[in-house]
Amino acid sequence: MAGHQEKKLAGERKHQNMQNGTKASQGQWGRAWEVDWFSLASILFLLMFAPLIVYYFIMSCAQYQCSLTDPLLDLLAGNKHLSDIWNRTPTLTYRAAGIYSLWVTFQVVLYMSIPDFCHKFLPGYVGGVQEGAVTPAGVVNKYEINGLQAWIITHVLWFANAFCLHFFSPTIIFDNWIPLLWCANILGYAVSTFAMIKGYFFPTNAKDCKFTGNFFYDYMMGIEFNPRIGKWFDFKLFFNGRPGIVAWTLINLSFAAKQQELYGEVTNSMILVNVLQGIYVLDFFWNEAWYLKTIDICHDHFGWYLGWGDCVWLPYLYTLQGLYLVYHPVQLSTAHAVGVLMLGLLGYYIFRVTNHQKDLFRRTNGNCRIWGKRPEYIECSYTSVDGTKYYSKLMTSGFWGWARHFNYTGDLMGSLAYCLACGFEHILPYFYIIYMSILLTHRCLRDEHRCSSKYGKDWKRYTAAVPYRLLPGIF
Ligand code: NDP
Repeated sequence: MAGHQEKKLAGERKHQNMQNGTKASQGQWGRAWEVDWFSLASILFLLMFAPLIVYYFIMSCAQYQCSLTDPLLDLLAGNKHLSDIWNRTPTLTYRAAGIYSLWVTFQVVLYMSIPDFCHKFLPGYVGGVQEGAVTPAGVVNKYEINGLQAWIITHVLWFANAFCLHFFSPTIIFDNWIPLLWCANILGYAVSTFAMIKGYFFPTNAKDCKFTGNFFYDYMMGIEFNPRIGKWFDFKLFFNGRPGIVAWTLINLSFAAKQQELYGEVTNSMILVNVLQGIYVLDFFWNEAWYLKTIDICHDHFGWYLGWGDCVWLPYLYTLQGLYLVYHPVQLSTAHAVGVLMLGLLGYYIFRVTNHQKDLFRRTNGNCRIWGKRPEYIECSYTSVDGTKYYSKLMTSGFWGWARHFNYTGDLMGSLAYCLACGFEHILPYFYIIYMSILLTHRCLRDEHRCSSKYGKDWKRYTAAVPYRLLPGIF
């Protein structure tokens, strides 16, 4: 099946090459070639403050019961000095370094050494060797999709340990949370720095590198498009999925275990957060092959934004609800809990169906049915670095006819549900929805800018057909 698709693709490309004799000077999409002052200012701000923001949130929970204002008020009133807060912060420990090294090594082994077997017995699951999208240089990378398997093995071992083996306490992650933060930072900076050096001296594909000449921009947004070590170790796929997203559900489980240890019960809010975020994580791995066609893999270069972000930002800030609930064990009324569950499930449904519609549409080249009808679409074309002209389609029916990024809207509804599960006492658990609203709105604008330069006038025809971005009739 894969071989047949490959031949078909090669045939199509050849045909397209024959149609197009001219050679484009540079890639038509991907991250910027030039840095404007606003991007540079944002990047400098993030490089300086993102690690501090993460530290501030985690420290607020550890030292101030998750109050975001109390540390500032304490400092402003002169009750505390920065050094007092810092001195009470746990340092890097050998134990945390050992746990973290073992964790990352284990994930590397699962990623590199065990070819996917899930697709052999799970109907409908797409795993094993899969192709990514065409890069600006016209390369089509192959990926070993085995994230679901890695997630299952990791979690089976986790539960086996928690209920039978008792090698370590399931609260291990919570108990070492700040020392592990230092380890995650070390890995995040190391991998981003390595990616930068690699981009200069031994890139995987030199044609897919971008240099703006601005050190900070290149460090943050990455030089190489798809850095790899050897044939299969793909930085983007590994770092986003494995230390980041596999860890997400384990971290939540550890927080639930801590609640049990401290209060003798796990609250319904903690169960909701574990279940809703668990569905999101499982969805990610079930659809890992689809992820190859998302912006992270198709457009973003690998730099600090992805490297550090996957190691630190994601596991530490996406799990704030669970952490908060350890310090504030909220027991929700049945109506509140059901409301949160419904919102979370509806958001997930919209998120999944919208993503599925695009995936199906693209996989079948429009030869499918969306809501029982043939999909409507706009024909478009774009050119890669080597001058090859490609043809594509932008769907204008299904959820893609409602808004240009209705998948983000569903994602935001789910994100809001996680936050609402934590009650209304503190702002800290609401960081996630605030952050996701900024991230996805910015991502939406970024994507549209990129699509506009990729598809040119065809993109204009598309935006005329689907005028709203996230909320039909509003935005
Ligand atoms: P999309 O899946 O929406 O992909 C955007 C791309 O799809 C565009 O660049 C374009 O690519 C193509 N496209 C756009 N419009 C159409 C259309 N009408 N018909 C067909 N193809 C179209 O975005 P993301 O990759 O950002 O997001 C994927 C999912 O991941 C989303 O649901 C998002 O919510 C989620 N996400 C979650 C994050 C988190 O931190 N939790 C972070 C980021 C994303 P092409 O060049 O191929 O035409």
